[in-house]
Amino acid sequence: MKNDIWNKIKECLKEEIGASNYKNWLYAVQFKTLEGGIAFLEAPSNFHVEWVSQYYGESILRLLKERDPSIIRLHFSVSKSAKSSAGTDQSDANARDEFEIGISNRKKEYLHPNLTFDSFVVGESNKIAYHAACSIVQGGLKNYNPLYFHGGVGLGKTHLMHAAAWALRSKYQNSTVMYLSAEQFMYEFVYALKFKKIFEFKESFRSVDVLMIDDLQFIAGKESTQNEFFHTFNALFDQGKQIVLSGNRSPAKIDGMSDRIISRLQSGLVVDLHPADYELRLKILKYKYDQFIKTGGGVKVEEGVLEFIARHFSRNVRELEGALNRVTATGFLMRRPVAEADAKQMLSDFIKESDRRVALDEIMRQVAAYFDVSVSELIGSNRARIYTRPRHIAMFLAKELTHHSLPEIGRFFGGKDHTSVIYAINRTKKLIGDDSGTENDIDIIRRNLSD
Ligand code: ADP
Ligand code: MG
Repeated sequence: MKNDIWNKIKECLKEEIGASNYKNWLYAVQFKTLEGGIAFLEAPSNFHVEWVSQYYGESILRLLKERDPSIIRLHFSVSKSAKSSAGTDQSDANARDEFEIGISNRKKEYLHPNLTFDSFVVGESNKIAYHAACSIVQGGLKNYNPLYFHGGVGLGKTHLMHAAAWALRSKYQNSTVMYLSAEQFMYEFVYALKFKKIFEFKESFRSVDVLMIDDLQFIAGKESTQNEFFHTFNALFDQGKQIVLSGNRSPAKIDGMSDRIISRLQSGLVVDLHPADYELRLKILKYKYDQFIKTGGGVKVEEGVLEFIARHFSRNVRELEGALNRVTATGFLMRRPVAEADAKQMLSDFIKESDRRVALDEIMRQVAAYFDVSVSELIGSNRARIYTRPRHIAMFLAKELTHHSLPEIGRFFGGKDHTSVIYAINRTKKLIGDDSGTENDIDIIRRNLSD
């Protein structure tokens, strides 16, 4: 970042806080350098540093981030020239002349109060991960160290880690359970290097009883941080301390992760979280909706609304929550119960967006691949069930996910007429009603299509 950007930011701040505050406080703040995502700023005195960091720190950080998203933290200190001319005694431990603003302060480390085991809804796709997280608390996992969770975004990895951390802290009150993201780990490391605090850094990590590091993929490709992580890991592991980690992929699939870390991860228990199936999605929605009602949310939703959301938001729990929030919030403004048709309208932007991406040939390819039949078998006329079931499902999805008419769909799937398409759709609906396997198959294909 260059000084001219800093000057622009100062101009914005001047508008925000007014000319006289600006003159008193921000005018004299200087931008020094940017390193490892930390912007280093200096002001003329202790008092000045304290004031600016406290009252304007958040705004400065926000404006900097808008221009350079890699900046995650501010570091304020008293400018050197001011220190020497004022003869400040730098050994005076009470005079705080350095301040930090940003996400990476471990003292501000935060476990979300709502992310507990009680609020985690368990189903087929996450039950192993759930039991693994519980066993750390029960102490039954001695042989599974480290424990590594992986899965796509919004599937509950962070939730489970917070839940385990809460439970451990309440069960073993004298032990230290440290939870942080890999990003925080890296910035603490960079910071320790810069301020020659590596000894303290190592001490603080190596003295914990349980270390949890979330989103480990963040340190992929970052050699020196990986190196430090590796040594921290070994030090704790050798003392028999529990280590819990998460990442977005299975160990070997994280590009840019060193082999020795991968092999450490693989030596423990590796658990993956899958996207929730329809049944679990509905269960989660029901749970969240009940919570919402219990905590005084005034909106009722009619029969079919939660099912509608569960059907259309299948990728992850975060999306599911987002859709429910939107429906309840809009419902609140309507001041009447939300019907399925309302929900459809409220969510139409989000649903249409995923529809647009799906083309008929993509459906054809994905369905064929999923059921392991060739495209020509899929659109052919062989009546064996191994072909008819995928064929019917493909037409069902074509109707659901595209805006093509029935005759168009029929033509596309091997020159069939529209009555065949109606038949296929009805057959599939019946299968969905008869067994949950079909719903699951369709669900996975839908998801593959939206990836
Ligand atoms: P990840 O860390 O895997 O990206 P999170 O743990 O942040 O995902 O989960 C995303 C959101 O979904 C959070 O609000 C979390 O509480 C919620 N969530 C995920 N899985 C469940 C579940 N099984 N039950 C209840 N809420 C869940
Ligand atoms: Mg997470």
